[in-house]
Amino acid sequence: MPADLLAGLNPEQLRAVTWPAKSALVLAGAGSGKTRVLTTRIAWLLSTGQASPASILAVTFTNKAAREMQTRLSAMLPVNTRQMWIGTFHGLCNRLLRVHYRDAGLPQTFQIMDSGEQLSAVKRLIKQLELSDEKFPPKNVVGFINSNKEAGYRADKVQAIDPYTRKLAEIFAAYDAQCQREGVVDFAELLLCAYELLSRNEALATHYRERFRHVLVDEFQDTNRLQYAWLKLLAGRDNALFAVGDDDQSIYAFRGAEVGNMKSLLADYGVEAPVRLEQNYRSAGNILAAANALIEQNDGRLGKNLWTDAGEGEPIRLYEAFSDNEEAEFVCDEVRALARDGWDLSDLAVLYRSNAQSRALEHALVNAGIAYRIYGGLRFFERQEIKHALAYLRLVSSPDDDNALLRVINVPARKIGARSVEQLQAASREQGVTLWQAACAGGAGRGAVAGFVMLIESLRAERDRLNLAEMISLVIDRSGLREMYEADRKDGEERLANLDELINAATGFVADEPGMEVVEFLTAASLEAGEHQAEAGEDALQLMTVHAAKGLEFGGVFVTGLEEGLFPHENSLSDRKGLQEERRLMYVAITRARRRLYLSCAQSRMLHGQSRFPIRSRFVDELPPALIHTLSAPKPAPAARQAAWLNETPAWAKAKPAAAGGFSIGQSVSHAKFGLGVVVNAEGGGDEVRVQVNFAEHGLKWLDLRYAKLSAC
Ligand code: ATP
Ligand code: MG
Repeated sequence: MPADLLAGLNPEQLRAVTWPAKSALVLAGAGSGKTRVLTTRIAWLLSTGQASPASILAVTFTNKAAREMQTRLSAMLPVNTRQMWIGTFHGLCNRLLRVHYRDAGLPQTFQIMDSGEQLSAVKRLIKQLELSDEKFPPKNVVGFINSNKEAGYRADKVQAIDPYTRKLAEIFAAYDAQCQREGVVDFAELLLCAYELLSRNEALATHYRERFRHVLVDEFQDTNRLQYAWLKLLAGRDNALFAVGDDDQSIYAFRGAEVGNMKSLLADYGVEAPVRLEQNYRSAGNILAAANALIEQNDGRLGKNLWTDAGEGEPIRLYEAFSDNEEAEFVCDEVRALARDGWDLSDLAVLYRSNAQSRALEHALVNAGIAYRIYGGLRFFERQEIKHALAYLRLVSSPDDDNALLRVINVPARKIGARSVEQLQAASREQGVTLWQAACAGGAGRGAVAGFVMLIESLRAERDRLNLAEMISLVIDRSGLREMYEADRKDGEERLANLDELINAATGFVADEPGMEVVEFLTAASLEAGEHQAEAGEDALQLMTVHAAKGLEFGGVFVTGLEEGLFPHENSLSDRKGLQEERRLMYVAITRARRRLYLSCAQSRMLHGQSRFPIRSRFVDELPPALIHTLSAPKPAPAARQAAWLNETPAWAKAKPAAAGGFSIGQSVSHAKFGLGVVVNAEGGGDEVRVQVNFAEHGLKWLDLRYAKLSAC
């Protein structure tokens, strides 16, 4: 055994790593080394000869975490990590289904739909069934299907007592039939299908149970019912299920995750007590103290006590901006200052509760010329041009994929109008065949459609001759995509560069099974697209939602948008359970930071096209004030804006500098939400006037008079 494998572990970590070959639960707070323990345990099992690589199955939360685990293991030991099954639930289920596609009733080339594709498939179906999408909003239908699948129910098992739910169950059944016909599988289906495969097929389950003697799971608190049931099938009674988790970081209850699985594991596997790790190695003392104080406000916790010997470190910095844009400018200023002090940009993360918040941040970062990487927005595999190219590639591999066909049948434009597509859809419905089959069968006004069929056939004819990269290159050229983007003056250049990047990615792609390159490449792309996860790479500031930051750590972290209604999210405000989940999310956010933590909020924010005037998040007030250093109050309107104001509205500016939008400085006003106050400042002109009011109860606020209901009193 490599001598230093266990060096540096504390006694509890050591106990967990060298736990005998039976089930265990490690229950410990953020940054206490759970992931490290899990990885080291695998290395320990292998190096002591207690386990062979083939007997290891490890579930991580993201593809990136899986890759990291593999890299670390190879660095610790000379071991072939490919024999181990390390991946996410989705990744591992996919691997299982690829091997046993026949038993699972899937075509060999089944394709995975990401959530966007699933939504368009449901929209299409609702139209086809001639239902109203007001009565059956596609998003809700998707939610209904997924939550049932995640609970292990197919359409025929749905508890439908009222007519509306019965109708939803019918849509669910029709949706499954559509997926089956087209050879596509959504994310929830991957899990359900893999679960059913093993539960139906005892011989297969026994085979895997005998193989995977060690099943290890990270972030166990976020497993849902179906995932736990799947693990139980694999681990059986006799194998060792080794799970690590933190109930305080359970942030996926809204998607059906069940903290209760931790208690079930103790009971189901006869584990007497969880192993607890109490020393935090990640965060400086003040950051940890803030996290501890915050999470203590939740009840029903399993309880733990985290400490550190790292010293207090710096105070937590709090900044209250007058607007979202100004908050973004603040972030840029600090990032620049930190970079000057020698921080790597990639060691800094800006976190937000909801994706919509990134717009203001991105805008400021672009202006400031700061390199950044954003996750959860449009990532590589979600870009239009990449989706188009991949849709062609899908048709090459399985032409019955209706989503793919609809995406590109008229891209680039080839005179196949909406009417022709409707005719095709009608034919497919009447004959119960896929769009591709309907297109091949010929019929009404098919000149252009026939041309499209020939194009796809001609690409398919090449698939055995060309390798993956050549195939993609051919697809881009022959489909006309390249020509289309060459003619696009606006974004064409960038899109072409991305398409070239796709060819590059394909060049480096190695398939597990010869002949399956196209299918495996598409699968990898879908799995990546479904994940909101940061990627290592050039030195760039990391932007992501708090959910996406789980398990990661950064030297410096900005938690932005700490406002009531945003974080905690407005949907959670009326519900205690929801609020507690938001608090756990805040706990996750705080505990990502090693050395420096910024908290920020804004007094006005544009969100979903509306101006809001929120109050500061309760989570800020739940932190011990002694740990917090409030940075100077919002800056007055920047000089540039003042100048613009003087230029644009000289009459107003010069004649009545102290008045704005009917209000004058010093005037008493009242606001529906903030109550009484006094106008202290103003900026802007014409229709765009903002005034700063000092409210008796809520302090200083900037209000945009276009939206704020302010009245004189
Ligand atoms: P989270 O709950 O956020 O997923 P975690 O419990 O999985 O956190 P890790 O990510 O495994 O924690 O560890 C946090 C940090 O502490 C990592 O940088 C890790 O390398 C370091 N660490 C863990 N154990 C030790 C130790 N015994 N000595 C030094 N550093 C350690
Ligand atoms: Mg971890």
